[in-house]
Amino acid sequence: MPEFDLIGRIRDIVTVPCGPACVLGIGDDAAVLDVPPDRHLVVCTDTLVSGVHFPVGTLPEAIGHKALAVNLSDLAAMGAEPAWFFLALTLPDGDPAWVEDFARGLGALATDAGIALAGGDTTGGPLSITITALGTVEKGGALERGGAQPGDLVVVSGLPGRAALALRELKSGAEPAENELAALEYPVPRLGLGMALRGLATACIDLSDGLAADLGHILERSGAGASIDLAALPKDGALTGLSEQDRWSLQLTGGDDYELCFTVPPGRAKELPETAAHTGVPLTVIGRITEGVGLELRAPDGSRFEPGRAGYEHFSGENR
Ligand code: ADP
Ligand code: MG
Repeated sequence: MPEFDLIGRIRDIVTVPCGPACVLGIGDDAAVLDVPPDRHLVVCTDTLVSGVHFPVGTLPEAIGHKALAVNLSDLAAMGAEPAWFFLALTLPDGDPAWVEDFARGLGALATDAGIALAGGDTTGGPLSITITALGTVEKGGALERGGAQPGDLVVVSGLPGRAALALRELKSGAEPAENELAALEYPVPRLGLGMALRGLATACIDLSDGLAADLGHILERSGAGASIDLAALPKDGALTGLSEQDRWSLQLTGGDDYELCFTVPPGRAKELPETAAHTGVPLTVIGRITEGVGLELRAPDGSRFEPGRAGYEHFSGENR
C-alpha cells in the first residue's frame, strides 16, 4: 500500500484531536505548535527495533502500545503532561493489516494519555519505530535526576521485575503468566504519578534498563550514594515463586519495567500513602540516599548482594 494511504489509515485510527495549540498538524512539511507562555516544552525520543526491543513475532498491537508507552514513561519521569507526538515508522513492507493493528495499540494508549499525533515519517526498511513525544510542565517544575539528597527515601512504583521474568520465560520457550506478559507487552506509563510528584520528589527516573542501573543514574547526577534494603522490594504473583537471589537479580537488573524510581525528603514520607491512593499506583520505600558513592544492596542478613549484571547496555556485545 502506498505511503500516503498508510498515513491515512493511521490517522483514521489514532484520533486524539490535535487541539487549538496545534496551529498546523499532519499534512504540511512540519507541525506548528503553540506552547503556553507559562510552560516549558518537555521533549523525548525513543526507538524500538525489532529483535532488540521486542521479540520478532510480537503482535503489532503490542508493538504500537509499547512504542508510545516507552516515550510516555520518559515524560512521566519528568512530571510532564503529554501533548503531542511524532511517529517515524520504518516498515519492511506496506502491509495495511499490520499497520492498522499497530495503530490500534498505539491509538488506544494515545487516547488514555490524551496525546495527539502531530506528524511523522514513513519509510521502507527493517522494522523500527521512533516516537518523539512532547509534553509541557509549569516553568521550573520538571522533575530531574540530579536533586537527591542524603537522607532522602528511595521509592519505587509498581512491581519491578515482572517484565524481565516474562521475557526470560519467553526466551526459554515457557509461557509467562498473563500479568507478567502484560507487564512486558503493555507497560502502563506512570503519567499521573509523575505529575503528582512535582514539588514532592527531589529526583526521578523511569525504569527502562533495570532498577540498579537507573537508580545509578540518579546517584551519579545527584553526587550521592544509596543503600537499598532488598527485603523491602515489592513482590507479588509469579515473582513470589522465585528464590530470593533470583528475584532480587531480576528486579534489580531486568529491564522494561517502566515504573518510576524517585526520592523524597524524609519529612514528607507521610505524603506517600495519599499519593499512592489518589494515583492508584502502589509505592514502596526501598532504601535511602547516603553520603557515600554508588549503590549498596543489603540482604536481610546484613550481607551485601551482587546482582548478576548491571542492566541492559546496547553496545556491550550482549544480546537480549
Ligand atoms: P515530507 O516529504 O515533506 O517530509 P511527508 O510526505 O514525509 O513530508 O509527510 C507528509 C505529512 O504526513 C507530514 O505532515 C508528516 O508529518 C505526516 N506523516 C508522515 N508519516 C507519518 C506517520 N507515520 N505518522 C503521522 N504522520 C505522518
Ligand atoms: Mg516536505
